[in-house]
Amino acid sequence: MTQRRIATEEAFATPEQIAAYRLLGESGWHDPDVLFWKAVLGGAFQDIVTNLLDIGEGRIAAMDRHGIDVQLLSLTSPGVQIFSPERGSDLARASNDLLAEAIARHPTRFAGLATIAPQDAAGAVREMERAMGALSLNGVVINSHTNGQYLDDPAFWPILEAAEALDAPIYIHPRSLPALSAAPYDTHNLNGGIWGYAAETGLHAMRLIMSGIFARFPGLKIVLGHLGEGLPWWLYRIDYMYGLQSRRIPRGSNLLPSDYVRRNIWITTSGMNDEAAVRFCLSKLGPERVLWAVDYPYQEAGEAVSFLDAMDMPPEDKAAIFAGNAERLFNIPPKESIA
Ligand code: MN
Repeated sequence: MTQRRIATEEAFATPEQIAAYRLLGESGWHDPDVLFWKAVLGGAFQDIVTNLLDIGEGRIAAMDRHGIDVQLLSLTSPGVQIFSPERGSDLARASNDLLAEAIARHPTRFAGLATIAPQDAAGAVREMERAMGALSLNGVVINSHTNGQYLDDPAFWPILEAAEALDAPIYIHPRSLPALSAAPYDTHNLNGGIWGYAAETGLHAMRLIMSGIFARFPGLKIVLGHLGEGLPWWLYRIDYMYGLQSRRIPRGSNLLPSDYVRRNIWITTSGMNDEAAVRFCLSKLGPERVLWAVDYPYQEAGEAVSFLDAMDMPPEDKAAIFAGNAERLFNIPPKESIA
């Protein structure tokens, strides 16, 4: 039996989104993500734009070349979070419609995470209900901060409440650090995948843990890419320091930060084709919390497949990482049921 492979952090773009980013780039707005897109659309990575816009035959041909059965698609970062609340929600609805149409054309090859505009919390909740209901999408993607605010802010609690009620996992995908904290990262081009994205997104996850969000919403399911954005590596020290702090700051919960990580957080291998790092994460979190991802089209699919193929581990663990965990977490039909 060949190994089913479901890639879980796979980006796409819509023509409307790209046109809107182009306008923002021309506006001279000095936002790190806008500047990134200005460079991309200025021709820095032309094939990336082409690949992002293809949610049909060309993408499927690329998946076939590497033995990838399913891509779980999400609108590329920073999604619609850099627009006004109304424009953000309009773009989110249009993007989710396009995504649902692509999945309907290729139901055995694509699944998808809904885009929402957290800056319009009420609209975001309505869109989550539509996306998980009528559109049958598989969860939600949020590109870290929204206007420098994080999901522990009470303004966003309706979104977390809806995610819990709808059983919609939230994939917190990276974006550049907000202007407030970006300056020390900008100096040496650090506000990107090389370090800043992990600093930003790891901070976001730590804010959720330390704010008590997972005590308030115990059923919330959070997904982090890039092997957990550093968190697994830090668990020992986080728990230790939390213990010291808790003597001074009673927190009303017996759970340690690492307990929440093992209960509420799943991680993916996106952009981390590193056997030793994956082994470490498996030892800290268990094989049921690690999912496979490529980060197409930003990273090479071939290496993402071959490094995990080559890893020596129980076949049931490899099957879980490649596909089974994604089937359960994102409610993607198992292969048998669609044969
Ligand atoms: Mn990505």
